[in-house]
Amino acid sequence: MILYDLQCSEGHAFEAWFKDSKAYDRQAKAGRVACPTCGQTKVSKALMAPNISTSKKKQQAAQRYTNDAAQTLKAFADFRKHIEQTCENVGNRFPEEARKIHYGEAEAKPIYGEATIKEAKELADEGVPCTPIPWPKDEDA
Ligand SMILES: [Zn+2]
Repeated sequence: MILYDLQCSEGHAFEAWFKDSKAYDRQAKAGRVACPTCGQTKVSKALMAPNISTSKKKQQAAQRYTNDAAQTLKAFADFRKHIEQTCENVGNRFPEEARKIHYGEAEAKPIYGEATIKEAKELADEGVPCTPIPWPKDEDA
């Protein structure tokens, strides 16, 4: 038996077991593999399957995925630029500075910096408003 990650033409991902790859081909061709979400029988193996077909359609899908990922990275990079231009980088003093501002010991100002997961959790527990943000590394920006 083989477990395939499948995707219907509407973009729903699902998994299905087949006796072997031929069984999948046969059933998919006969329209007997239906998406559990929408019932669509136009299904294909999803891109994360280890055997990525090089058919044109799949290549286009892969290209689309790459474009989406690039756009997302670009959005993160723009976001990072915006933060850098409008907020003060307090580096690893972030938890300390965020607390000072929260408790009125320092002037309120937009800051960003680093905190460990533990520190971030402690801040959240204290009700200090802060949020983790996606931060692309310089080489990605
Ligand atoms: Zn579907």
